[in-house]
Amino acid sequence: MSKQLIFGLFLLLSLGLFTYTLFRLASFFRLTRKGFKVDRIGERITTTLLVAFGQTKILRKPVIGLMHALVYWGFMVITIGSLEMMIDGLAETERIFGSWGILYDFITASGDIFAAIIILSCFAFLARRHLMKVKRFSGVEMTTKSNMDATAALTMILILMFSLIGMNTGYLVNHRDDIVGSYPISSLLTGLVSVESAHMIQETNWWIHIVLIFVFLNILPYSKHFHIIMSIPNVFLTDLKPMTQMNNMASVTKEVKLMMDPNTAFAAPAEDAPPPERFGVKDIEDITWKNYTDSLTCTECGRCTSVCPANITGKLLSPRKIMIDTRKRMNDRGPGLSKDPNFDDGKSLVGDYITAEELWACTTCNACVQECPVNIDQVSLIMDMRRNLVMEESNAPKELVQMFTNIENNGSPWQFSPDDRMKWAEGLSLRT
Ligand code: SF4
Ligand code: SF4
Repeated sequence: MSKQLIFGLFLLLSLGLFTYTLFRLASFFRLTRKGFKVDRIGERITTTLLVAFGQTKILRKPVIGLMHALVYWGFMVITIGSLEMMIDGLAETERIFGSWGILYDFITASGDIFAAIIILSCFAFLARRHLMKVKRFSGVEMTTKSNMDATAALTMILILMFSLIGMNTGYLVNHRDDIVGSYPISSLLTGLVSVESAHMIQETNWWIHIVLIFVFLNILPYSKHFHIIMSIPNVFLTDLKPMTQMNNMASVTKEVKLMMDPNTAFAAPAEDAPPPERFGVKDIEDITWKNYTDSLTCTECGRCTSVCPANITGKLLSPRKIMIDTRKRMNDRGPGLSKDPNFDDGKSLVGDYITAEELWACTTCNACVQECPVNIDQVSLIMDMRRNLVMEESNAPKELVQMFTNIENNGSPWQFSPDDRMKWAEGLSLRT
């Protein structure tokens, strides 16, 4: 079988599997609510350029941030080379973009240098994860699987980069008289490769590299590294309203307007009217598609949890866990719910995955939102889960229940009648 045919079959299989995964994800998105408007496109593009492409949030930590950013930028350049490899594989050509001249020299030279930088960075990340006790890599939500996931991805990236440099080195020796492109790092290694073995080294590394890209592509959606694909769209979808501003609940706004407008006649709902929507978020069918996008984008980096005042002071809350649990709940219940809208496994996101104690520990300071490198909004989801606890379960800390009662009875959070408000001034010579 020719290389072209084997590659074509392999490409078909990989894209087929990836398409299946995308359809599976689309079926999960269909379970979610609308509730997020994509407007202010200009502002979104600026945010994407700064935060996603410019990596401005990551770069706030100069050393490790720069390493992350270089890996990210490196991948963007190397992706052009991967695209070329796919076309070469299908068309049985070699370095098909070589006709781009100086631009090709620039792309190949950058790719070669970035491959070396990514190798060094990945070794540094592995050492940090396994040898240094970095606090944000631990926590109840960081299971053995999460840590293995990170290690496996870093190892795969290392093999990808080694194979890229190996392929380039083999190419330089194999084609020493008609080289297309520029390879400053690989050219340092040509002394290690004999002319006889050059073709074999080039081909073996070509296959290792391309097969690993396809494997990686199909593993990504099932791992935290899906953020490689999701981070740019998620940053584009940043919630642009001021961080502390809460969304009004449309159903409550409607009720309040009805109460405040004396001309509105109360009409009982029709008998065949659909049941009222649930207040807040109890399970995955209550989250918005943006909440779900956030959960898929979470890199599990723990930057949010590391600045969370509740977590730092020993409370159960971890904003990273909120994202991980939401994604996990969708994976657990989504398949059943996609087939049967009434599917019930006897569990719910709030209660079985995320406890009321975690939710009530949030101070709504928004430090987590501020720190998240991919602009995830953890707080709006926490607030919607709290709304469900209050409005459907009457499950709130006793201090809040007392305040709710006071507002209902007295029109203020205090325990006193409004008529007694000025009692403190009795006997004082004050003019009112
Ligand atoms: S908003 Fe809540 S979850 Fe986020 S950092 Fe503050 S306390 Fe923690
Ligand atoms: S929510 Fe953001 S900051 Fe927190 S772990 Fe996920 S990606 Fe990192």
